[in-house]
Amino acid sequence: MRSHEPQSTDILIIGAGVVGLTIARALALKGLNDIVVLEKESQAGLHASGRNSGVLHAGIYYHADSLKAKYCRQGASLMKDYCDLNGIPVARCGKVIVAKNAGELDTLHQLFKSAQANGAHVTMIDEKDLESIEPEARTFEKAIISHDTAVIDPKVIMQTLYQELKRMGVRIISQCQFIRCEKHRRVVTSKGVITYRYCINAAGAHADVVAHAFDVGHEYTLLPFKGVYQQCRPGSRVSRIAGNIYPVPDLRNPFLGVHFTKSASGAVYVGPTAIPCFGRENYSGLKGIRLESLSIMTGSMRLFLSNPKFRAVAMTEPKKYIPYFLYRDAKQLVQHLAFKDVVQSTKVGIRAQLVHWPTNELVMDFLIKKGVDSLHILNAISPAWTCSMAIAEHITNELSTMTA
Ligand SMILES: Cc1cc2nc3c(=O)[nH]c(=O)nc-3n(C[C@H](O)[C@H](O)[C@H](O)COP(=O)(O)OP(=O)(O)OC[C@H]3O[C@@H](n4cnc5c(N)ncnc54)[C@H](O)[C@@H]3O)c2cc1C
Repeated sequence: MRSHEPQSTDILIIGAGVVGLTIARALALKGLNDIVVLEKESQAGLHASGRNSGVLHAGIYYHADSLKAKYCRQGASLMKDYCDLNGIPVARCGKVIVAKNAGELDTLHQLFKSAQANGAHVTMIDEKDLESIEPEARTFEKAIISHDTAVIDPKVIMQTLYQELKRMGVRIISQCQFIRCEKHRRVVTSKGVITYRYCINAAGAHADVVAHAFDVGHEYTLLPFKGVYQQCRPGSRVSRIAGNIYPVPDLRNPFLGVHFTKSASGAVYVGPTAIPCFGRENYSGLKGIRLESLSIMTGSMRLFLSNPKFRAVAMTEPKKYIPYFLYRDAKQLVQHLAFKDVVQSTKVGIRAQLVHWPTNELVMDFLIKKGVDSLHILNAISPAWTCSMAIAEHITNELSTMTA
């Protein structure tokens, strides 16, 4: 450890994604003044938190008793307030969920009910209403409009949080990788040893590896799914949509399906996919493929053989690497979309999804597990970006009682 870097701390947070930074902020606001955040990269937010759609979800899809439902509306509201306070633009553009055919209407109605149960502000509309609200969208008979869905720029949020934490005296150590933990609340990092009173694992796509080092959650592993986007050509009809257009998802899976997102800058993206891939940071080609990829492949194969829902994803998603197939999916949601209206984009993220091996099931909700003097956020899947500030508040309250 270099001399100017801390060798001990009260609270140690592993990972400077949105989950780690919002927890650090909530703790600092509570008056804790000895917080260290470790980040293996040179900057905060280089992974999921800087690569997502930036959608602040309204709480439509989730079971009423899930953590997702519990935190979504509160998290979105806290994030919007944060943006307003810091002069960060929020595109309060809403979204529509459209049905491709009669077979999707039951699920659409089911979504409407769960949205209402979760307190989301939604309206069921017909094709005529849709035409006046979002003329480019197309649906079969009915659609849902979600009034409170909004979009923010993830990179701007991450930079603002980072600067605020620095001002608050939180020490964020970049290029410092957690390697292992030892007895007596010591962790070994790539920059030396740090001792702590309490440790929070917010390592995103690597949270399972970190948890296992603390002897927590051995029955779980994160598997990576690649979220590829394409962009709608500026000037095309679809690039002028008013808000976001989503399909009716397959509720058995945690992914929402390829959709149109109007980003905070006004650019319209199509995506993301959910393609099983072989590296937690495999953003392109062979980049991010490591020795571990063998065990990811084995895990994916085991799921493929044992879990029909995963098998369906693995059979349908990979072809969306080919732009035409992603286009074909997206085209079903809108009135006019020519293949030339969808252009290549460099935007890509990895959606780390937790698998519970005793049941061979994808874990659908967030999972927060306690260890000895440690807490592990194990399945920070979408909408964890939306929920981050509410999760942080919850963890801060828990921590105050645990460490009092
Ligand atoms: C394509 C895509 C689209 C999405 N769209 C949305 C959306 O529209 N709305 C929404 O609510 N959610 C969305 N999500 C989900 C959302 O982005 C994530 O839930 C959220 O960003 C998770 O944040 P995190 O802090 O847990 O993870 P991350 O942002 O991945 O942060 C974890 C950090 O930990 C660091 N780290 C890992 N291991 C170590 C180690 N050993 N030592 C030190 N540091 C370490 C990593 O470098 C990383 O910076 C999307 C995700 C993806 C991928």
